[in-house]
Amino acid sequence: MVAAAFAVLASLLDLFGPTIFDRAANRVDEDPPYAVSARGRALHEDLFVVDMHADSLLWERDLSDRLDHGSVDIPRLIEGNVAIQSFFIVTKTPWLTTIDETSPDSDAITTLIVAQDWPEKTWTSLLERALYQASRLHELAEKSQGRLRVLKSKADLQRYREARKQGGAAIAGILGVEGAHVLEGDLGNLKKLYDAGVRIVAPTHFFDNEVGGSAHGVDKGGLSDLGRKMVIEMEERGMLLDLAHASPAVIDDAVAIASRPVIVSHTGVRGTCDNNRNLSDTQLRTIAATGGVVGIGYWKTAVCGKDAASIARAIVYAANLVGAEHVALGSDFDGAVPVPFDTTGLGLVVDALLDQGMNNEDIRLVMGENAARVFAEALPD
Ligand SMILES: [Zn+2]
Repeated sequence: MVAAAFAVLASLLDLFGPTIFDRAANRVDEDPPYAVSARGRALHEDLFVVDMHADSLLWERDLSDRLDHGSVDIPRLIEGNVAIQSFFIVTKTPWLTTIDETSPDSDAITTLIVAQDWPEKTWTSLLERALYQASRLHELAEKSQGRLRVLKSKADLQRYREARKQGGAAIAGILGVEGAHVLEGDLGNLKKLYDAGVRIVAPTHFFDNEVGGSAHGVDKGGLSDLGRKMVIEMEERGMLLDLAHASPAVIDDAVAIASRPVIVSHTGVRGTCDNNRNLSDTQLRTIAATGGVVGIGYWKTAVCGKDAASIARAIVYAANLVGAEHVALGSDFDGAVPVPFDTTGLGLVVDALLDQGMNNEDIRLVMGENAARVFAEALPD
């Protein structure tokens, strides 16, 4: 009965074409090319750039081609001199999300994936949705003729850095999951995600789930017993904990039991943009104390602006508070939020950081070396 309803929905949505949601949801305010200063361009070309968060796998695109919509594909990542892009897997998003209180009772992703003709097993299983998206990145890497590789271990990262030093345009991806509802309440599924190459897990997304509370949830509770076990098993496996979207209680609980650096893959800071989505000064200090990093997002609710200057303001604020070695990039490209530029526009961020007085060495850290350091520490041997 449910499958029949989905099939009807799918045929209706087919009428509008497969990219209609993608184009509407993932708007880029200004199209490339972008005007970057000679100084900014020279510095950008010399950086090892890491973006800790994009949701590009959710959309029906061939990421091996340069596209005229969205923010991320292999050609544009290479043009933007991105070395590592974290690709996050989204499996459930309620139709009505607010940053203050979101109920888990509906799901827009089901409609999206049915409309995109994904395999039927993904229609009713969050885990299958995740495994399918992971397989899409691996397939993309396989057919990329060396342009894309997926990093799963310290050795992969080391080899990749050596290969980049030898020259040649290439990009690496790391797989993450946004919301541990994907476990479907069964910790045994963590191994399936690991085996599929997933190396980063965020306990929650927009709503409270079996492992803990969301910053945007109804109860906003701490980690459940399952959540605590998940954090411990993740560390044993060499998986990185991402506290983006986590409730304040989950952040505190997770950091209390974590013995390794944790990240917040995409966020803003209340010091420049005060809302429930963003990290307080105390939370920034808490994350930094683990040796971890926070990735600053590019969208309006993260930085209270729609330009590179607003992004740089948040980066500089966080760097001044906890040290530049704990700040990174977390664009949320292709995450159904409008962004000021696509991934070829990262030179604009370099320019804005220079304008705001950040020195070259700190820019090098926040644009990628910090995130690379944490990946190198967290990934399995
Ligand atoms: Zn998110």
